[in-house]
Amino acid sequence: MDLRKLESLDIKGKKVFLRLDLNVPIKKGVIQDETRIREALPTIRHILAQTNKLAVCSHLGRPKNGGSPDDSLELVGRRLAELLDREVVFVADYTKEPVIQIVNQLIQNQFVLLENLRFHAGEEGNDYDFAKILVDGFDFYVNDAFGTSHRAHASVARAAEFFPPTNRAAGILIQKEMDALGGILARPEAPFVVIMGGAKVSDKISVILNLLQKCNHLIIGGAMAYTFLKYRGVNVGASKVETDKTDLVESIYRNAEARRVEIHLPVDHVCGSEFAETTKPVVTENNAIPAGMLGLDIGPKSIKHFQNLIRGARTVLWNGPMGVFEWSGFASGTMAIANAMASAGGAKTIVGGGDSVSAVNKAGVADKMSHVSTGGGASLEFLEGKTLPGLKVLRV
Ligand code: AMP
Repeated sequence: MDLRKLESLDIKGKKVFLRLDLNVPIKKGVIQDETRIREALPTIRHILAQTNKLAVCSHLGRPKNGGSPDDSLELVGRRLAELLDREVVFVADYTKEPVIQIVNQLIQNQFVLLENLRFHAGEEGNDYDFAKILVDGFDFYVNDAFGTSHRAHASVARAAEFFPPTNRAAGILIQKEMDALGGILARPEAPFVVIMGGAKVSDKISVILNLLQKCNHLIIGGAMAYTFLKYRGVNVGASKVETDKTDLVESIYRNAEARRVEIHLPVDHVCGSEFAETTKPVVTENNAIPAGMLGLDIGPKSIKHFQNLIRGARTVLWNGPMGVFEWSGFASGTMAIANAMASAGGAKTIVGGGDSVSAVNKAGVADKMSHVSTGGGASLEFLEGKTLPGLKVLRV
């Protein structure tokens, strides 16, 4: 899918409406990770170099009932002002007059940031009237909120319809995501190793089935590995298993066989006797888990096996942790994957969003990857082969 690029628009002196994903984690008034803010800067800078008639908007978290001060974007606005050395005109209430009227009054060195879009039901409702308040009167619509592009919300989908297709474009971050994620779907260099982990096979079935069309090896870790092992007749003790999902596992094996893709499951585990951070880590001899124990991470032999596969790959795509990496006793498998990808010299390495991104940041190797996606759900849906509503409206 070819998207119209921001750089192809003549926006000199024009009024530009920009949807960003500034949904950063904030705890006790402190931004915990400003990756999304920094990733938004190239697009904002590109626009501000040509016009100061700019309104920026985003959601933050999942506020309920109109939102609370904890969900406000004001703090993010202050950080943007610092990073860009501009004055941010923060608009808390934009339901009384169209946003364009505020933009019309801007002076040099200022731009507008709107309060959390999700304070208004119209945003998630993809509401026409809400979208009209946001964008009516603007000349151009730019979306750079990759992480929200799978949502048909007012600022992502409906708002774009107020502009002719020639006046809508994808920002620089969306272009980067599309190049990386779209690139591996279109022409992955073999051997292509896909690593899937996380909680549930049912959450990842569509993406696995789509990637089986492209990859040579599929590594399965995390809790979902136990559903696979159980299907293979291996004893999984008290591990988390989706007992009703054997049909999904069967379809994955059937597809893998047809496409000659090798599936690799853990050959040993780090177990615990209860699902608790304090449980003592116990390493198994082989792929069987003793009765009453739960598999909480992949074991050292599995790590070695998976490292070898990564070492021999030309393309690696990773989504989902190998274990309960939030607990230090069960983080080794996930950290080992992050480090193996970081040192897979010459291979294209892509981290497909969500918890694997936190793991890569925790391991301090984010800058060693070819691409770390800013979208969790969005990158998964994109890799499933779905047409994302926020991207569809930006097509050339
Ligand atoms: P997902 O959002 O599907 O990628 O799942 C991520 C979650 O899966 C993380 O919170 C992990 O703690 C959890 N997880 C990974 N491995 C296991 C496991 N063996 N048992 C239970 N939970 C796990």
